[in-house]
Amino acid sequence: MLNSLRNILQEVNAASDFDALLEIIVHRVKAVMGTGICSVYLLDVKNDAYVLAATDGLLPAAVGKVSMSRDQGLVGLVAHKAEPLNLEHAETHPRFAYFPETGEEKFSAFLGSPIIHHRTVLGVLVVQQQQRRRFDESEEAFLITIAAQLAGIIAHAEATGELARALSPGLEPDNASGEVHYSGLASAPGIGIGVGVVVAPAADLHAVPKRRTQDIDGELAQFRDALDSTIRDLKTVHQDLSDKLNPEEIALFDVYVSMLNDNSLGGEVSERIKTGLSAQYAWSRVIIEHIRTFSAMENPYLRERATDVRDLGRRVLGYLQQQQHEEKHYPKNTILIGEELAAPNLADVPFENIRAMVSAKGSYNSHMAILGRAMGIPTIMGAIDLPWAELDGCELIIDAHQGLIINSPTGQHLEAYEKVYKEESDFAADLEATKDEASITLDGQHISLWVNTGLRIDSMLSLDRGAEGVGLYRTEIPFLMRERFPSEEEQRQLYREQLDMFSPHPVTMRTLDIGGDKALPYFPIEEENPFLGWRGIRVTLDHPEIFLVQLRAMMRASIDLNNLRILLPMISNTEELDSALVLIKRVYRELTLEEGYRFDMPAIGAMIEVPAAVYQIGEIAKRVDFISVGTNDLTQYLLAVDRNNPRVAELYHSFHPSLLKALRIILDDAKKYRCPVSVCGELAGDPLGAILLVGMGYEFLSMSSANLLRVKAILRQLTLSEMSHFAEQACLLTDSFAIESYLKDVLDRPEIARLIRPTTSPSLN
Ligand code: PEP
Ligand code: MG
Repeated sequence: MLNSLRNILQEVNAASDFDALLEIIVHRVKAVMGTGICSVYLLDVKNDAYVLAATDGLLPAAVGKVSMSRDQGLVGLVAHKAEPLNLEHAETHPRFAYFPETGEEKFSAFLGSPIIHHRTVLGVLVVQQQQRRRFDESEEAFLITIAAQLAGIIAHAEATGELARALSPGLEPDNASGEVHYSGLASAPGIGIGVGVVVAPAADLHAVPKRRTQDIDGELAQFRDALDSTIRDLKTVHQDLSDKLNPEEIALFDVYVSMLNDNSLGGEVSERIKTGLSAQYAWSRVIIEHIRTFSAMENPYLRERATDVRDLGRRVLGYLQQQQHEEKHYPKNTILIGEELAAPNLADVPFENIRAMVSAKGSYNSHMAILGRAMGIPTIMGAIDLPWAELDGCELIIDAHQGLIINSPTGQHLEAYEKVYKEESDFAADLEATKDEASITLDGQHISLWVNTGLRIDSMLSLDRGAEGVGLYRTEIPFLMRERFPSEEEQRQLYREQLDMFSPHPVTMRTLDIGGDKALPYFPIEEENPFLGWRGIRVTLDHPEIFLVQLRAMMRASIDLNNLRILLPMISNTEELDSALVLIKRVYRELTLEEGYRFDMPAIGAMIEVPAAVYQIGEIAKRVDFISVGTNDLTQYLLAVDRNNPRVAELYHSFHPSLLKALRIILDDAKKYRCPVSVCGELAGDPLGAILLVGMGYEFLSMSSANLLRVKAILRQLTLSEMSHFAEQACLLTDSFAIESYLKDVLDRPEIARLIRPTTSPSLN
């Protein structure tokens, strides 16, 4: 049976479409188990019933016609109880129901297994037999295994719309509304409405025939021309984006250009052409080999470089094939779509025409997502089920708040989203009025609202929105955009720009926080459990040469400005803190006493983001000038929920009572030592989170600049005593959902509710 299982799965994987796949399942399972009937019933969500979707043994005409709700028939019972049902004598069971349209003969033996995906019973897989028999344990296990495999496939079919078609055979999309939904990872918030423009180079690297040439010089010249044209394209992008991105982001384009030169891909291909191969073939071979090498790499950043190589490969091949380089039209409402969107795809698109971006591959941490966030373009990454190649010219809605892509929306949904889009724009414009207002509660208590930065564009927006300082400058972001560690002088200039921009306001620079999900391309860290591994301060203490250079660059950058604060990430014990402080003091001494620079010793802080640190606030507070709570990591470590794993995303809840308790302990203990404490995790920028934190007594909140005006506007509507009361009550509740709904209920007043939820994605029926 094990072999049969493997074979069935192989056949299933090779199936041409969903219907064919279901057919394979019913035929093969029936044959392997030697039964009279095998059928698959699938959940029709609209009617909340399980519909016969494929069968071998019942009348084919019954497919799509016979359906059972959870309280009907044995199939309904399997779905209702979400467990297998194995009956020797099915017709005597009280739930037995006979459906004449199936042509079903009297049968005795019944074995049904639920098909479950993420706790939802998506269907039921059934085998039946005329003779009375009891299916044995191994047969039951076999059916359960097939059903479990089927679950993922059905979930995929649901996302692509194939499931709806299988449930309503003969019903073409034209007869229905035609609207189809897909999902992906919400990677840069916002709504984009427009027309899909697929950026897929026509050139297919795998379809280049092997051809030899006599005219080596001619091929070399052609190749040179193709490279020059590609370099020209890249340089145009470079120029177009130069005022919107910082030097690190722009440097990516330089990397692409350098990949084409004679010391890199260009040279390698020329050598092969000289052996008599055609330019096209030589080029495609070299590119395919490089793609394979990069794709096989463990390190996610290096793996992503395969995308860049592939994109460059297709571009050059396109020129080589001398396809007419027709002017692609990018309408004013372009939704940029690609299988693997990458920076060079922005080459020909006027920036102001891009309404949203969608990539079938990639993730929240891909460069494209980073660029999307930096440029304020709603972006969805990792839309794995998206038939991206078919979306050119399609009317689309991109709801990047929830990672939803709607193809061919109904007029009703389009109207609903246009309304939300307009509300978002109006809301943002209204909030601008709060820009110059003081950040005070209704009863006059000042709350410091700071920003989290990393990209130059963040900083520019932050200044525009009246930030009082930078609570977290994530120094690893500029490191991530490079191909090697930046030198001391390069870092000094980068930090100087940041300190200068915000001067005289304080700027809190966190020392390099790599590891976890942030791997530098040139310093790979490969671990089984990266979040519990070599991360943050653990890495930099083990590499003082990196740490000391960064500290020197930060301190030198602060000369004459004196607005630098240094923050240490991932502190989990006092020894780490003491070691870091020794190095910081050493750098200060060297710069001032030995090298003659004059500047104030920066304030030093520790991040509280590991549960162990929560219970050592006293010891930590004695050693530093301030502490900053990183609720993003504190939530993941306290709840044992990986912050990047979509499977457990529903368990990642920053209103968890344990987190609130931890936040109280941190504040109370820090106060005992008169140590200023701020919060710089996402919770601080969440409207309900901010109310809770201020209610608890936190006076410094640091957030993404996108949330700053909204949080300020809310705090101006509430008194401190009101917020304290809410926080006290919330802390008495026992689960995250109760806490969140309590806060929503008590804040359900029109002037505040609008600020808490300025826009809600329309509910789509
Ligand atoms: C945090 O962990 O809350 C934090 C602010 O740091 P990061 O999100 O960069 O890990
Ligand atoms: Mg953190």
